[in-house]
Amino acid sequence: MREANITTSIDIDPRLARRVKLSDGALITRMLNISEGLEDVIRLGRGDPDLDTPEHIIRAGQNALENGATHYTHPQGIEPLRAAIAENIRANGGADYGADEVMITPGGQQGMFIIALSLLDPGDEIIVPCPAYNPYQQAAEMSDAVVVKIPMTMETNFTLTAEMIEPHITERSKILVLINPNNPTGTVTPPDEVRKIAELARKHDLILVSDEIYARLTFGNSTAIAVAALPGMRERTITLSGFSKAYAMTGWRVGYLAGPRELIAPMSEVNHAFAISTAAVSQHAALAALTGPQDCVEEMRQTYDARRQAICDGLDAMGMGYAEPQGAFYVYANVASLGLGITASAFCERLLAEGRVMVFPGIMYGDHTDDFVRMSMTQPVDRINTAMDRMASVVESYRAEMRAPAD
Ligand code: PLP
Repeated sequence: MREANITTSIDIDPRLARRVKLSDGALITRMLNISEGLEDVIRLGRGDPDLDTPEHIIRAGQNALENGATHYTHPQGIEPLRAAIAENIRANGGADYGADEVMITPGGQQGMFIIALSLLDPGDEIIVPCPAYNPYQQAAEMSDAVVVKIPMTMETNFTLTAEMIEPHITERSKILVLINPNNPTGTVTPPDEVRKIAELARKHDLILVSDEIYARLTFGNSTAIAVAALPGMRERTITLSGFSKAYAMTGWRVGYLAGPRELIAPMSEVNHAFAISTAAVSQHAALAALTGPQDCVEEMRQTYDARRQAICDGLDAMGMGYAEPQGAFYVYANVASLGLGITASAFCERLLAEGRVMVFPGIMYGDHTDDFVRMSMTQPVDRINTAMDRMASVVESYRAEMRAPAD
């Protein structure tokens, strides 16, 4: 159980960062600055599992290094890994891909940039749900594309619906992004709604980027279906996924894109230009992850499920609402529901300074309200329980201030 150490408190001259919006980064920096002088901070902020990569995967990486996996690989990735991914997608009810229709990337996140830089011309529109994992937006902005945001709300448990998307489709719409399960909301778009969204993509001739990186981490009856396997979707879907979440492999930096040859081939050129190839050692470890025992994924899923329960119990006890967490490892909690008249970002800062608990405000993920915070299930249950007690004390001190007679 380790926590990566990050220090990003650099002041960047906005003129030097023409293509990157600095506002989101500035918020993280402020939170990190507050936490710097504090002891015993419980970090429920970043989406980086505290769980270690399973032993057999680490061993496979070590063996690969000893056996010479120290060179560039084929730009699209080693063939056995691409074949194993294609097989794994098929076995899990996804589309039928050849190994040449899979491309290994240094993390799923780089996959987003490869997609944007390969497929978006200036002025093209990319439809992105909000709140959502924001590199999609950054990648689109770097391509001078127009980001069309679809605000999601509690009304649909923060899931995207075809009805919400359709009015935003124009002549310039090119890509529609679906992230299922979603980050930061931890919600799952129901299969019937996914079918309607796919139908919309077909009707309007859109490319659907389906981010399924959390698809193996769902709870209760929720399932995130594979979009590319739906009728008529294989040719217009790029599935983005990776090993970071299901196998606790964030630091290995290995993800993938799967899609039809015509789309993967040009993207492979961009991937080569960016990175030449994904680290050979990480690819061999990913191969062991896919072809080795899978109980570790289920064990981790159950661990997150218990943590999810602990967070929800804590929120229930303090009377704080939240979106029903159905997948990934986040709970999206509603600060506004406390009726304290404060923003979620102000709450985050005070919770950190006073309660030594780090969570991130939803506005960091493009939420159109400053009402919600994202809580990551990235600490053991006992630490989560302590975090929830500390959070309840901060809420109580807000309530006491409200009750205090004005001078
Ligand atoms: N997609 C989503 C929705 C994510 O939340 C993340 C990381 O948090 C990624 C993709 C990228 O993960 P990685 O680059 O570690 O594969």
